[in-house]
Amino acid sequence: MSPPSSSLGKNFRLPRTVLPRAYRAELAVDLEHDGFEGTVAIDVSLTEPAARVYLHAVGLTVTAAKADGAGSATTESDAESETVTLVFPSPLPAGETTLHLAWTGRFSPGLRGLYRAGRIAVTQFEAADARRVFPCFDEPAFKATWALVLRDVPPGVTALSNGAVIDETVDAAGKRRIRFAPTPVLSSYLIALALGDLVSSEPRTASNIPIRTWAVPAKRALTTFAQEAAAAVLPKLEAYFGLPYPFGKLDQLGIPDFEAGAMENAGCITFREVALLLDPATAPLAVQKRVAEVITHELAHQWFGNLVTMVWWDDLWLNEAFATWMAFKIVADWRPEWRIWMDFEVAKGSALVLDAMQSAHPIRAEIQNAEEAGESFDAITYEKGGAVLRMIEGYLGEERFREGIRLYMRRHRESNATADDLWGALGEASGEPIVELANGWIRRTGYPVVSVALGADGAGKATLSLRQQRFFSDPAAKETGAPTRWLIPMVVRYRDDEGVKEQRVLFGDETTTVTLSAKGTVHFVEANAGAAGFYRCRYDGALLAKLGQAASPDGDVAPIERMALVSDQWDLVRAGAETVSAFLDLVKAMAGESDPFVLDELIGRLSLLESRHVADADRSAFQKVVGKLFSASAAPLGWQASGGAPEADDTRLRRAALLRALVVVAREPAAVAEAEARALKHIASPGGTLDPNLLDLTITAAARAADDARFDDFARRATTELDPASKRRFLHALARAEAPAVVSRAVAAAMTELVPMQDFTSYLSVLLSNRATRDEAWRLIRDRWSEVHAKADSPMLLRRLIESLGALPERHHLTEVEAFLAAHPIPAAKQATSQTLERMRTDAVLRERLMPEISAWLKKA
Ligand SMILES: [Zn+2]
Repeated sequence: MSPPSSSLGKNFRLPRTVLPRAYRAELAVDLEHDGFEGTVAIDVSLTEPAARVYLHAVGLTVTAAKADGAGSATTESDAESETVTLVFPSPLPAGETTLHLAWTGRFSPGLRGLYRAGRIAVTQFEAADARRVFPCFDEPAFKATWALVLRDVPPGVTALSNGAVIDETVDAAGKRRIRFAPTPVLSSYLIALALGDLVSSEPRTASNIPIRTWAVPAKRALTTFAQEAAAAVLPKLEAYFGLPYPFGKLDQLGIPDFEAGAMENAGCITFREVALLLDPATAPLAVQKRVAEVITHELAHQWFGNLVTMVWWDDLWLNEAFATWMAFKIVADWRPEWRIWMDFEVAKGSALVLDAMQSAHPIRAEIQNAEEAGESFDAITYEKGGAVLRMIEGYLGEERFREGIRLYMRRHRESNATADDLWGALGEASGEPIVELANGWIRRTGYPVVSVALGADGAGKATLSLRQQRFFSDPAAKETGAPTRWLIPMVVRYRDDEGVKEQRVLFGDETTTVTLSAKGTVHFVEANAGAAGFYRCRYDGALLAKLGQAASPDGDVAPIERMALVSDQWDLVRAGAETVSAFLDLVKAMAGESDPFVLDELIGRLSLLESRHVADADRSAFQKVVGKLFSASAAPLGWQASGGAPEADDTRLRRAALLRALVVVAREPAAVAEAEARALKHIASPGGTLDPNLLDLTITAAARAADDARFDDFARRATTELDPASKRRFLHALARAEAPAVVSRAVAAAMTELVPMQDFTSYLSVLLSNRATRDEAWRLIRDRWSEVHAKADSPMLLRRLIESLGALPERHHLTEVEAFLAAHPIPAAKQATSQTLERMRTDAVLRERLMPEISAWLKKA
């Protein structure tokens, strides 16, 4: 046994010999002084006698601790392991007992524990911050019931938690005592409390579950869409899982300052306002889709995560990957016209970029402690994980996959499970060797690029030669050790003289040759049909030319495959496997594209090139080329529908994509002037003819040209707008300022109350991406580092802060950021630091390679 003074260490995990069964806790929250005091009775089972009982607690002052039948305990706090140890004079016997504790604590800085968000006090516990409010067994494996009481609640204050309010009494002084229904067994990270100035929508019922959406009073009118979405998707999730919604009621809370997008607390889901509340009259389609997707993601967690919970944080990825995939699947079913899988493809693109680095990590990582768990919330965990599940579903078929999920749910409900339990259930339901396929993708770092060439065998039959190797976006990167091979479930589609055909290939070696069942000429080959696979394709010259021809809007290549083609070709440029002039030729050939998602992909790449990789001397020539490419398609659409029937979503999105190219990227003077005029007209009298999908680009045009007066006006709107998307649009607009007179104001605003903590890192990202503000913003970050650090005071925000530095494009930036982060390391963001520095190194070299190439291309264009 170690002496009491020595630390248990950061990686200490609570022994499994004392198991919590039920918490009965009372908390009095002092909203005036940002503090609280609590008491709890915890029923525990001891599997063996114990004189020391370990619980998690951080920042709490435990004032009393005892156990039934054993009397009082002394306590020892340990900062590093974030525990409090109850030390009993003689061992507690094996069997059942009840622990009793009393404590006091303070609201946490940063957006975690119990914290203040305007006039609301709210909790955020994942991954490991329940311990900042309750002494508890704060690891996901310790599931127990929670019966919560809030006392001393002032009159008029709304109080919400996981269970419904079942009892409320008022004392002579008007202080209320509110008792919530006990929860089913839950891990501590899923407990939630909110107190303050919140009002709810009209309640709505779906599958007998009362649903309410809560907001600060002024935003009550913005709750309708969230109500509609939750009521629509909840029954669809019940049908998928084959199990009823497990938590009795559903509250969705819009919180004015919130770290993540949302948090799936059982029955009491908290959201960033912009991910929940919207004005349907002014919300762009992208905002509506995002809100529906986030609501569905958190609802999917009520089963996958809350009802069945991971044993330890090393399977956090499974929670997130599953909820990510499920949300797209359910929303696609609810609103097929939205084509939400195209949005997934965009998100998958960022995972493909992150996962092409040497600093990438496997989806399933070894996690030693809660801090490391906090580091894992990146695109590899969410989107690559989701894409791998989608790939497995594609391989097994929808029904067999669903049967496996249902089996897993039934078997582990109200309990814990690992990923291998899921693969086992999927294997059992399908009779397929899923463990090998899944683990190959989950446990290996990176992903393959598949080289594809068309040939013929001895008998003249068409063949495909395939070769796989790990893909790196840094041309200088090499695998260390034996080359990784993936078992790749490929679906190949091609056209021969008889028509379009599909062929399945399970490809696990370094190379293979596949004989196609083709008749006559093979007109094109798509080696990642439906873009369902998590790999990149590298076609030989002849195949790429054929695919380019088939990739016209009326050709055989589907829009999602055209997006993947652009995305793959661009990353091959980064990797040094293709030239940027070939890429620009491809973009030129595809400029007549009509699908808005493919257009966004094309224009997004051009925008990136324009902002990072074009020499200053070439900028206006590059902008002219972009303008020329898209003005012919933009002209017939104009700025608004020309009367008659209402326009289809795709038409409106196409117009927005094309105008973005002309206004934001090409900066065509006439288009910019028109955008600015329309923005100002809309601001002066909202509710006019401006399509909400054009708001981002028109406000950007107005913001770039802002003088002091306009800056003041936008700053005011960034605090007073009720609709969260409008509010964010005006806030980010400030960071897009380009006029010398207001640039310093835009940078300085980052440190003021104008930019709330939740928006701080995204505001910095916009500043650092803006040529006019980036150097001054970077100087501010260095000069006022301790304030900057304090304004991003949580692992997730620090991660975003480091990532925002990746927007700085030049080599001198890289040198400065490297030196700065070496002198000011952030232990909670080690992974983000190495990812960001690698990205900056690759991009700095890329920039030097691309600038002369683009210059030469422009001379021919
Ligand atoms: Zn999630």
